[in-house]
This record gives sequence, C-alpha cells and structure tokens, in this order.
Amino acid sequence: MDPLKRLLKLIKDNDVEEIDFRFTDMDGKLNHMTYDVAIIDTDIMTEGLKIDGSSFRGWKAINESDMTLMPDPTTAQMDPFLSVSTLTILCNVFEPVTGERYNRDPRGIAEKAETYLRTTGIADKVNVGAEPEFFVFDDVKYQADPYNTGFKLDSAELRINGDKSYEGGNLGHRIQTEAGYMSTPPQDSGQEMRSEMSAHIRSMGVTVEKHHHEVAPAQHEISTNFNTLVRCADEMQIYKYCVRNVAELYGKTATFMPKPVIGVNGSGMHVHLSLWKGDKPIFAGDEYAGLSETCLFYIGGIFKHSKALCAFTNPSTNSYKRLVPGYEAPVSLAYSARNRSAACRIPSGSNPKEKRVEVRFPDPAANPYLAFAAIQMAGLDGILNKIDPGPAIDKDLYELPRCEKSKIPTVCGSLREAVESLDNDRAFLKAGGVFDDDLIDSYIKLKMEEITLLETTPHPVEFQMYYSA
Ligand code: GLU
Ligand code: MG
Ligand code: MG
Repeated sequence: MDPLKRLLKLIKDNDVEEIDFRFTDMDGKLNHMTYDVAIIDTDIMTEGLKIDGSSFRGWKAINESDMTLMPDPTTAQMDPFLSVSTLTILCNVFEPVTGERYNRDPRGIAEKAETYLRTTGIADKVNVGAEPEFFVFDDVKYQADPYNTGFKLDSAELRINGDKSYEGGNLGHRIQTEAGYMSTPPQDSGQEMRSEMSAHIRSMGVTVEKHHHEVAPAQHEISTNFNTLVRCADEMQIYKYCVRNVAELYGKTATFMPKPVIGVNGSGMHVHLSLWKGDKPIFAGDEYAGLSETCLFYIGGIFKHSKALCAFTNPSTNSYKRLVPGYEAPVSLAYSARNRSAACRIPSGSNPKEKRVEVRFPDPAANPYLAFAAIQMAGLDGILNKIDPGPAIDKDLYELPRCEKSKIPTVCGSLREAVESLDNDRAFLKAGGVFDDDLIDSYIKLKMEEITLLETTPHPVEFQMYYSA
C-alpha cells in the first residue's frame, strides 16, 4: 500500500489523537516531538517540521540552529505505551536553507551506505541482523549514590533483577535464583518481562524471533530478524525504546551499557551481514566454512579498519571494559566457524542463503546507523581492494600461548585508541561521499569530550585503591 495512504489509515483505524515525530542524534539517542493529529492536514509531510539543532550534541551551533525534520511515512507505527492514541514516525534531518540532507544525520549516512553499495556493482542489497544484549536492574533512580554510578562497588551487593540470592539473609531454603544462559523460570525471573518487551517490539512492526536469559545474572537478549541496513538500524531504535519502557513498567531499568558489572559477561551487539545480488547470496562459496572469496575479502576489510571502526561500533569509554579475554567478547582479530572468542564468527549452516559473517566486537552503546554503515564501508573496501583476512583460527584465542597471541592483531583497548585510529584511517568511510570529514571531525570532538571527562574524574575504584593508601 502507498505509505501515505497506510499512514492515514492507521490514523483513522486507531482514532489517533497525537503524532510523535522521532529522530536519532549523533549519540544514537532517539528524540521526539509530539503534535496534535490535526497537523496531518497541513503540509507537514512535504515541508517537514523545524527543530532547534543546537540542543543536540555534535549538531548545529547556536547561530545556525534551525533544522528540518522530514517524516518518513514508511516508518509509521502505533506507539504501544502511551495512553493517548499516538502514531510514531521516524524522520530524516535536512538543512532548512539549502534543503539538502544534513551531512550529520546518522540515518542519512546509513542510507548513503546502501546507495554506495549499489553504485559499486558488487551487490544490490546488504542484510543486517543485530543482537543487542542488555541488563535489567531494580530501579536505581532513587538510591543514594555519591558517584551517581547506580551501583555499589561490591558486585555481591547489587540488587539484580529481583534475583533473590543477592538480597542476603538465609538462603538455605530458597531457590538459587542466580540465572544464567537459557535458565528457566523461576531462576529466570525476566521471562514475562521479555515476552512483554517482545510483544511490544512486534506491535511496532519488527519481527521478533526469540528471547532468552543471557550468561550474566540479570542479562537478557531478544533476537529480531535481519533486514536491510537502514531498516535494521530503525528496528534497533524500536527495540531499545520498547525494552526500556517495559522495564520501566516493571519498576526496573534496562541498560545497554556494555559492561555494567565487573567479573561477568558484558553486553555485545553482534552484527550479522550478508550481501545479495538479486536472489543470489554472494557470501556463499567454496572457501573456508562455505564462504565465497568475496566474503573473505569483506572480512579482510573489517580487520584492516577494525581499530577505526571501534570508534563507531564501541563508542563509549565503558565499551573497552567489555573487550577483555574470558567473557565471550572478542579481543583478537581472527575469524572462525565455531569460535566465540574470534572477532568474526561464521555461523554454522549449510544453506547458502544463511551464509553470513557475524561481527562480534560491536556493542549496544553504538549508534546503529553509524555503526552498520561503517562496518559495511570497511567490508566493501576489503572487496574492492581484495584484502586477505589471513587463515581462519579455530583455537580458543583467549588461551593461546603468548608468542602465538602476540602475532594476532587486536581490537582497540580504549576509546582514545579508537578515536585516534579513526582520525588516521578514514578514507574508506569517505568512499562515495558516505561519511565526510565534517562528520568525522565532529564525531571525534564529541568522543574526546567523553574521554577527557572520564580521564579527569576521580573514579570510585581509585578511592577504593588509594584513599587510605
Ligand atoms: N555477552 C557476550 C558479548 O559480550 C556474547 C555472548 C553471546 O555469544 O551471545 O559479546
Ligand atoms: Mg547473546
Ligand atoms: Mg551472536
């Protein structure tokens, strides 16, 4: 159905009273502005709406602050949380004077990455599937916390998701409720909450495949289907919105922070990618694990640019607390068919249509539009320049002898390293005008602010280690 007709039908069928226009900023945050439904009778769908761009990190200066949001009618969905019947629409960001797409609109970068793929002639479609993990904690909003971290230093004192083993007292006759990977209720106390999250994600047009308790206590994952690059990024925004709002309804908070708890797994956002020419999966072939040479080159490109990629795929100072050995998050830049310690895993399966590469280092703090676009640009650079990823490594990379391990390159160890790598390795992102220097420089500036803040702030662990030393 014509997207505008569908939108009008949604308004009529649901007695819509308000329309919520949403867009994603450089940080990856979803923002919104709500209008009376009467706005639909104006020229808003063709002329857009004006916002103050100076209030978003990394966008406009105060003296040039106006920006235009252009609603994308194909994204219209009913909001499942608001009591007033509300239609949501995702928007693209435009310059108000020239009418051009704003070069720092993350959704615009993702769209350009899809267009660039077609112009290379390599393929006409990229499918992306992402798997964000998250923790759900009892609501920490009202707890006294001098460092505003939300957590006490001793992880045994964390009040995790109603996991009663953390609440102290006599545990002798209680169920041990420290849930882990695929635990069933009652150990898994998040089952109903995840089902409700999944139902709301589905109601907003996203296909949910499954959900389960993850490895760490209070850690969860909901899996959605793959989609094209921009759509998958849109769906990640819907996913996070629903997860956070259902957690709120349960009196809890959900976090996509990559490593909220020391000593247990952090949260990754594995990204699965495959290229398609018509119906033909061009990642399937006769090489290692049933991959094509094209796919191996794609992996080669990801490895070559991985340190620069980290600035987008692992964009927080906290991200690098996850990328350490022993917690199923990768450190070494290797690929393997079975190995969860490798940066790229080739999921098993003999069907050529399922051939894809799983990039394991990204985390859910990433802006999905920028992260997916950047990975795609690195992979395409690999194909265009026939970059060899080297041989597959099927061994446990965490346990390799030091002499072997030292030969394998690694992902970044800090956000500072990632940002400096991006500064020095950016040409691959600029191919086809997808990213530009203005965007990259402003992104680096934002990230340097975060790095400086953390590096100059006394840390709770420093108090623990040095206060009485
Ligand atoms: N939580 C792990 C990570 O940090 C991933 C676990 C999994 O394979 O699902 O990437
Ligand atoms: Mg997982
Ligand atoms: Mg995975």
